[in-house]
Amino acid sequence: MTLEKRDYDAVVVGSGPNGLAAAILLQQNGLSVLLLEGKETIGGGLRSAELTLPGYIHDICSAIHPLAVASPFFKQLPLNDHGLEFIYPEIAAAHPFDNGAAAILKKSVEETAKLLGADEQAYLDLMKPVVKDWPAIVQDILGPLHYPEHPFALARFGLKALTPATLLAKRFKTPEAKGLIAGMAAHSIQPLTNIATSATALVLMALAHSDGWPIPKGGSNQIANALASYFISLGGKIETNVYVQSLEQLPSAHAVLLDVTPRQLLQIAGHRFSTIYKCQLERYRYGMGVFKVDWALDAPIPFTAQECKQAGTVHIGNTIKEIADYEQQIWRGKLLEQPFVLLAQPSLFDPSRAPQGKHTAWAYCHVPKGSEKDMTEAIENQVERFAPGFKNTILAKHTMNTAQMEIYNPNYIGGDINGGAFDISQLFTRPALRLSPYKTSAKGIYICSSSTPPGGGVHGMCGYHAAKRVLKDIFNH
Ligand SMILES: Cc1cc2nc3c(=O)[nH]c(=O)nc-3n(C[C@H](O)[C@H](O)[C@H](O)COP(=O)(O)OP(=O)(O)OC[C@H]3O[C@@H](n4cnc5c(N)ncnc54)[C@H](O)[C@@H]3O)c2cc1C
Repeated sequence: MTLEKRDYDAVVVGSGPNGLAAAILLQQNGLSVLLLEGKETIGGGLRSAELTLPGYIHDICSAIHPLAVASPFFKQLPLNDHGLEFIYPEIAAAHPFDNGAAAILKKSVEETAKLLGADEQAYLDLMKPVVKDWPAIVQDILGPLHYPEHPFALARFGLKALTPATLLAKRFKTPEAKGLIAGMAAHSIQPLTNIATSATALVLMALAHSDGWPIPKGGSNQIANALASYFISLGGKIETNVYVQSLEQLPSAHAVLLDVTPRQLLQIAGHRFSTIYKCQLERYRYGMGVFKVDWALDAPIPFTAQECKQAGTVHIGNTIKEIADYEQQIWRGKLLEQPFVLLAQPSLFDPSRAPQGKHTAWAYCHVPKGSEKDMTEAIENQVERFAPGFKNTILAKHTMNTAQMEIYNPNYIGGDINGGAFDISQLFTRPALRLSPYKTSAKGIYICSSSTPPGGGVHGMCGYHAAKRVLKDIFNH
């Protein structure tokens, strides 16, 4: 079947990692693709800027990139040739405790296990089989629900992954191992008693043991720049400052892929959708929000636990009990004074992020959706608790509450950075229960953001799977 002439074969709206991935795959397949971005610069969750003082480069959203280096799609792209270089901290993540000790996550499973003392064997029993199966299951985990390529390996993973993180932690005796699991699982932004919160912990730890938790040299925007540069080298076209409010605004195309969440999808294309599909999108649930702080620092953060000074990421929340209580309370809409803080310290490993001898740090905590409470002091108190003297190193800071997050990026509804709650009921069926989650009920219109499987994070796999669907449905590839 020959398709009638249109301005473009495909238009992609939104240039986050998923929009960029979708645009690249379509362009690689010989289509003509236009990528539109509403803001002045491309990248979505992949931007960096001098948020505090001149010469201090801060990652505005994502900072740590285990998913980008593990992404089966990004792995195939020649992004090194387009200026992308990753730096791997010696310790992926550290988790300090009040007694001055720290649990750490390293590339080696054995070394990580050994440092857990009495829990060495329990950690090996948990993680060795996951790491062994990882190359076989990564493609299935980072994709939509389908018949798996390696069903037995995936079933082995699923038996552990489907449990609540609080149950997974019961395999361990020491507060260090339990805290480590809690910090990893809390990335799922939901109570740790929820089913399948173990999946997030296992995936993040498997990523550390397989591909590592790197930072891009120069800032996270370097990932977006490399993807965009490769896309343009293939003949793709990008226009910025084009905020799309309706389909009628777009040039003609056989396919439109939207790197947006269901709420915006309804605004842009709702009039073309079936009543059932519209109802499904209206019922889509957004998750908790985040409050973020970026600091320009006079010196490295003076953590008491030495291991934290060599880690790219530090999870600050002490015991599993403290972390689980905090996540549970904010899920209920209540804020506690001692948040679980996710902190990154890129300038320790990448001197290009700050003037010589100076540093940057990035931190956020989860808050109830839409909360506008200023959590700066609570976050700084938590860092000071494990790094006395930290507050004296602060030269300048920049903060964003959930409302500012949403203004910065319209995909962060109520401050939700995952494009929708990431609990079991929306894990595979985001944004709606359909044969293909990427295909809307209107011909030629697709959703390709983190509101589709496999969800949040910089991996581009939502965009990749959406583009594959477009190639099959419309272009017979
Ligand atoms: C504070 C924070 C920390 C994070 N940390 C990490 C991390 O360390 N590692 C990690 O892997 N992930 C992290 N994430 C999550 C990650 O950034 C997102 O999951 C990811 O960027 C989602 O990609 P996306 O392409 O779906 O959407 P986005 O990256 O949100 O991109 C969507 C793009 O579409 C544009 N857009 C939206 N609507 C329109 C419209 N109507 N017209 C035109 N353009 C439009 C937006 O401007 C934006 O550029 C973090 C996010 C935040 C906010």
